[in-house]
Amino acid sequence: MRIKYHVPEIVIFGAFLSACALIEPEPVTRTFASMGTRTSVTLPGRDADRIAEAEARTREVLGRLEAEMSVYRPDSAVSRLNRLAGSGPTEVPADTLRVLELSREYGRLTGGAFDVTVGPLVRLWRFGKDRPPSIPSDKALAEQRALVDYSKIRLEGRTAFLPQAGMSVDLGGIAKGYAVDQAWLECRGLGLRSFLIDLGGNIRVSGTPGNSTSWNVQIRNPFDTSSTLGTLNLEPGWAVASSGQYERYVVIEGRRYGHIIDPRTGYPAAGLAAVTVVAAEAAIADALSTSLFVLGPRAGAVVLKTTKAEAVFIPDKEPAELWVTPGIEKRLVVAGRGAVRRLPGW
Ligand code: ADP
Ligand code: MG
Repeated sequence: MRIKYHVPEIVIFGAFLSACALIEPEPVTRTFASMGTRTSVTLPGRDADRIAEAEARTREVLGRLEAEMSVYRPDSAVSRLNRLAGSGPTEVPADTLRVLELSREYGRLTGGAFDVTVGPLVRLWRFGKDRPPSIPSDKALAEQRALVDYSKIRLEGRTAFLPQAGMSVDLGGIAKGYAVDQAWLECRGLGLRSFLIDLGGNIRVSGTPGNSTSWNVQIRNPFDTSSTLGTLNLEPGWAVASSGQYERYVVIEGRRYGHIIDPRTGYPAAGLAAVTVVAAEAAIADALSTSLFVLGPRAGAVVLKTTKAEAVFIPDKEPAELWVTPGIEKRLVVAGRGAVRRLPGW
């Protein structure tokens, strides 16, 4: 008798659960341009009525940080810092100061592979319409390389100073990640518990999108950007960032030169097609993805062991291979035939 009642109960319960899953509304996304890139905020469907508020607050935070840190804006604090290189210190806003401090920290951690004073080299390799791409002369490279050294950035009180004329800071490898963290904090401050912020591939999540699943982020195939190589399941609160040379590069004599510079050689870093980093904060993921792109898998593994971050390296060689840290394996679902290998030296 008991079983007779028991079984229908389970069935009804099961049916009820799947009905809930069916009526769980789809997440809602707002997309807009910010910091020179495609930006989006996503909320679970149940919070759809708060998307406008989340978007407005995110836009505000990102707009403010861009106005401080952009090198494309002559009136930004960073542009002023660069203009005053070799002449005198300048007061910088608290967020810019924090990003400069973090940048020095990641400069040290990566033995200088991450160096936000790469400005002169970035400019040397940035070919405009007026300048056809060509490899800079050894002389020009040596001159600009002599201006690159993050350890010379002087921070005192609320001021920053670049002691050598011609030095210049470019926060392109960390500012977007930092900005995502600040927008993330603002959204948490609004009482939102579950959301995803994406600033041109610098992503940080909060909570989960539905009842039990995690936010999933796809790893783009650098050899065919219309396809993906895998999916990462992000734990609540975590961040992900990718660096690659499939989006911003120049072609000189049939070779691709990307926008991430190896400060040791002055040349764009080579060897990897892309690297993706998962970390507890978006600023860390951003700084590390740029650094690991320079360092490559072997030296990169040494740095990664000193952090809690995980990474996927994709060597610049087809067919695509994913070289991973062991901790990422449980979060990575590989699509198709992408071959996964443990990072050398792990
Ligand atoms: P993206 O900004 O395209 O998402 P990254 O986060 O990897 O990619 O940052 C690349 C940017 O970082 C470059 O455009 C440049 O502004 C800056 N950069 C280039 N080389 C370095 C380096 N070695 N260390 C720190 N920043 C760098
Ligand atoms: Mg980066």
